[in-house]
Amino acid sequence: MSDGFKTLDQLDLTNKRVLLRADLNVPVADGKVTDATRIERLVPTIREIVKKDGKAILLSHFGRPKGKVDPEFSLEQVCEAVANETGHPVGFVATDWVDVSDAQKAIDAAPAGSVLVLENTRFHPGEEENDIELAKRMASLGDCYVNDAFSAAHRAHASTEALARLLPAAAGLAMEAELKALEAGLGKPKKPVVAIVGGAKVSSKIDLLENLVTKVDGLVIGGGMANTFLFAQGHGVGKSLCEKDLADTARRIMDKAEKANCAIILPIDAVVSWHFKANSPTRLYGVDAVDPDGMILDMGPSSIERVNAAIDDAHTLVWNGPVGAFEMEPFDAGTVAIAKHVAKRTHDGHLVSVAGGGDTVSALAHAGVKDQLTYVSTAGGAFLEWMEGKPLPGVEALKN
Ligand code: AMP
Repeated sequence: MSDGFKTLDQLDLTNKRVLLRADLNVPVADGKVTDATRIERLVPTIREIVKKDGKAILLSHFGRPKGKVDPEFSLEQVCEAVANETGHPVGFVATDWVDVSDAQKAIDAAPAGSVLVLENTRFHPGEEENDIELAKRMASLGDCYVNDAFSAAHRAHASTEALARLLPAAAGLAMEAELKALEAGLGKPKKPVVAIVGGAKVSSKIDLLENLVTKVDGLVIGGGMANTFLFAQGHGVGKSLCEKDLADTARRIMDKAEKANCAIILPIDAVVSWHFKANSPTRLYGVDAVDPDGMILDMGPSSIERVNAAIDDAHTLVWNGPVGAFEMEPFDAGTVAIAKHVAKRTHDGHLVSVAGGGDTVSALAHAGVKDQLTYVSTAGGAFLEWMEGKPLPGVEALKN
């Protein structure tokens, strides 16, 4: 038992029908999977089930079929990629999730050690409604339940929540690794803890900032959202992305941070351009003197130095969101410099570093350090809700 949930080795898998909640919601173009990262992460759990002569019966959502059977969203099209990644033949089991008797027969007929993919759980409206009757039909297809889909754990759906309460349940190996990494990041971190939050807008990350200021010792705010904070402090931000109507929110967050002894670290210099375009001319300004016609698109070198010094003082770092418009050169410089510094401190054994969220993963990949942090979560929504301090229904359900 780890933090209240069972792990895979604590479940009897031998000759069992194991319902494995996977995240097979992978990008597909022309019927082919274009990025199999999510499938790759499932392989250790699938192999473990197969090794014990269990049947690995994969359950997942795919796209948004809106509760109806829609061939465009059939999971049959990902079976080949699952077979390629696991090196094991994969059978597809069709069902409309209204009557599962045919699925039951197909599962019973499959030999021990089979890998099967069940049809899209969202073909039935009960999936997103966390409907107990649908969960019971799902449960009738298995002897036990394993959840290896952290990225879907922020949703209380039938296959992630209700079902977990109906069968002996455990976290899969990928889920366990993710939960352990997150626990080291914010659950029981080694202090001091620094968080970096960047990205475009404050409005999408208010809950995140409010939670972090009570938990971390230093909070770096970068990217477009830093402009709102600078504006709230009385600085002119020219034509930069800035949510002026959120100045009060920014001030409230800064007050809360002060009371909680959390140092807010904002940019002190800014890379400014006059066009939101790659390789457009730039000039460096102090944040108290930004050109009224310019746009802040990245942190300047003094800010980077300050952020890196804060990282040097920290034992733990959590990171979501780029600190500049990193998709366009040269506005990637701040994000890249900080990412490389985080990688080095991690490599040298001084830092536990946990990062996540869609843009953050691409920014780290762009900096060439995606595999050099302690843990990089590819879960978008679930990672953010975890950073916001919210309980994840799919994880909570495993704890009973
Ligand atoms: P988010 O999805 O909220 O994490 O935001 C990520 C996006 O914020 C990326 O596309 C960045 O290009 C963008 N971004 C970061 N800094 C800035 C900035 N100073 N001005 C405009 N956009 C930015």
